[in-house]
Amino acid sequence: MLHGPRDLRFETTPSPQPRPGDVLVRVAMAGLCGTDYGIWTGDRPVGYPRVLGHEFVGHVEAIGPGVHRVGVGDRVVIEPNYSCGACPLCREGHRNLCLARTAIGIDVDGCFAEIVRVPERCCWPAPAAVADEELLMTEPLAVVVRAVARAAARDGESVAVVGGGTLGLLALQVLVGAGARVLVVSRTARRFALARELGAAATHTPADGPLDAAGRAFSGREGVGVVVETAGTQDAVAHALQLVRPGGRVVLTGLPHEPTPVAFFSVVRREVTIVGSMIYQDEFPEAMRLIAAGIVFAAHAQPDAIKVAVRTTSSR
Ligand SMILES: [Zn+2]
Ligand SMILES: [Zn+2]
Repeated sequence: MLHGPRDLRFETTPSPQPRPGDVLVRVAMAGLCGTDYGIWTGDRPVGYPRVLGHEFVGHVEAIGPGVHRVGVGDRVVIEPNYSCGACPLCREGHRNLCLARTAIGIDVDGCFAEIVRVPERCCWPAPAAVADEELLMTEPLAVVVRAVARAAARDGESVAVVGGGTLGLLALQVLVGAGARVLVVSRTARRFALARELGAAATHTPADGPLDAAGRAFSGREGVGVVVETAGTQDAVAHALQLVRPGGRVVLTGLPHEPTPVAFFSVVRREVTIVGSMIYQDEFPEAMRLIAAGIVFAAHAQPDAIKVAVRTTSSR
């Protein structure tokens, strides 16, 4: 239970009760991500006290009246964002942009607990043959499935991924799975061996040389056709714009919380398309399919190098 910045306490509270349309999930495994870290440090304030955590796999413990999609005992993957379903944005099919969207572990209590209450529509039945630690990648993977779709890379186009964290390495795998040749750019070379193992054709850090030259060398022309930015820092946005060629596209998935200067001269002069990509709304099934099909090697070689997870002792 987070009571304020860096004030995390173990507490015992009564179990939530399932209301109509709700499901109680007993958490089997929960992932940590940069969002949780930002909430813990106080960079991203939430209403206190709050139970953090939004990436999780578990079993249905109880269901409220009117729940049909899952039953008690089912193993489920949780989609931790839900929209109001009634506003113009939701009705137009932009549920991920709903201004009344609720984020589990941020707006309401999350999964760093034994039991979590979630709406039925957040529960996706887990494919039986896939392990919890692999399914834990569904949520971040759904983010990059959407981003890669919004990038709309054409056959033969060179692609750069900016950021070597969880999202960057997942984006790399989705793009490689779709047949793209991918350059991974990161602040440090720390994850480059893993990136190569996961299919990166080349890697680059700013210390290796200017980004625009790296984009030209990798693409064999004026720069890469598509950049998928996953780091959410002002440097990452700048790097993305340096890598892309005139007429190319930059998809931003990171959320830079600091002011981010953008060289709009070069955006206009080179007619670069900048596209935002906000979490997901229909991408969970595709993310689970990619994991089940082994396109994304979530547990490959060194899973702890990609994602930190917590397994609860109370899980079955
Ligand atoms: Zn996350
Ligand atoms: Zn809405």
